[in-house]
Amino acid sequence: MILLGSFFVERKPAIEKVMELLSISPENPDLSRACEVLAAGGLVIFPTETVYGLACDATNAAAVTKLLRVKQRPAGLAMPILVANRDAAEALVELTSEAEQLYASFLPGPVTVVSRVRATQPVDTRLISEFGTMGIRISSHSVAQALAEAYKKPLTATAAAPAGAAKPRNPEALLAAFSEQQREAIDLLLSVGELPAAEPSTVIDTTQAVQRVIRAGAQLHEVLPTITTNSPEETSAHAGELLASYQESREKPLAFLLTGDLGAGKTQFTKGAATHLGILEPITSPTYALMKEYAIPSGGTLFHLDLWRTPEITLADLGLLERLTARDVLIAEWPAPILAEVVQIAVGLQLEFTTLSEESRQIRHLPLS
Ligand code: ADP
Ligand code: MG
Repeated sequence: MILLGSFFVERKPAIEKVMELLSISPENPDLSRACEVLAAGGLVIFPTETVYGLACDATNAAAVTKLLRVKQRPAGLAMPILVANRDAAEALVELTSEAEQLYASFLPGPVTVVSRVRATQPVDTRLISEFGTMGIRISSHSVAQALAEAYKKPLTATAAAPAGAAKPRNPEALLAAFSEQQREAIDLLLSVGELPAAEPSTVIDTTQAVQRVIRAGAQLHEVLPTITTNSPEETSAHAGELLASYQESREKPLAFLLTGDLGAGKTQFTKGAATHLGILEPITSPTYALMKEYAIPSGGTLFHLDLWRTPEITLADLGLLERLTARDVLIAEWPAPILAEVVQIAVGLQLEFTTLSEESRQIRHLPLS
């Protein structure tokens, strides 16, 4: 905690409020002070199994105003809401059978389930999406869970970082990411030290006919084990959806490694990815070219590989080891030769395609490992 000293000591006296730092025991967290601060409309940084979160009483308008200012985030973008358990969630949102299944399988845990809000629910409307939906988080971290249990009312569970900034694991780094003014609005930091590296929560929308991934994160391949598409267009659309779910401040190249027999839809998937990226050139199968590249209008390159004829090739042979940046997207058909290398440098998924019938394809999501 000595590292944190500067933020707490170099305060001008008088009017300026001093942020409190509490080192907290994950085994036996005392959250009485945090509850006092929250009840008074304050902002509290707390640890979760993914990153540090920024909590306020989600039903307190003044607290929400303060939070939105600190986050520099407009109202009307849904913010994850932390509750202690399913009953508390059900007081806020309507759970579809898909949502019920996700709760049963993954919560508490790093999955945010988006549901339609109830008319009677008390959370400030600025935290609800324009579609009338809310993402519920039930955390598996002992401190986050104890905080939700102790406070009883719904809390915000947004990342403790300004909108768009890197996600905070280390208390010192997260405070440094805020401006002096923003830091002054934060009342209390519950520190358990640096959190282990973890992906953000996977965010799943259960309000549509088909479950949609809004943000790819922890346990994605378990949340979304297999889907069936019933037309080439649906396969394309799924590619777009998956790509979109990875766009949030990515630090590594994005890779989709596609396996499956000839005609299973791998190139069709790539076409959908290209469309989503705004690439206007037609995507043609690279079987005889090995690799094709397409400039992504918003930055970066789409590399489309087909390694069927080159079972021994490496990323270095392809010149990609030096070239790939966080803005690039790599989609490889017959990816076995580069799998081990891609796992080291990229985020993404392996997708296993199976032909079920003329127009139906099964797509299985597997982790990149
Ligand atoms: P691959 O690259 O795996 O060999 P392609 O994507 O080139 O396969 O070919 C898939 C073919 O299957 C295309 O002609 C496409 O129109 C057709 N198709 C029919 N239904 C689907 C579906 N649900 N998803 C993807 N492709 C489909
Ligand atoms: Mg192909």
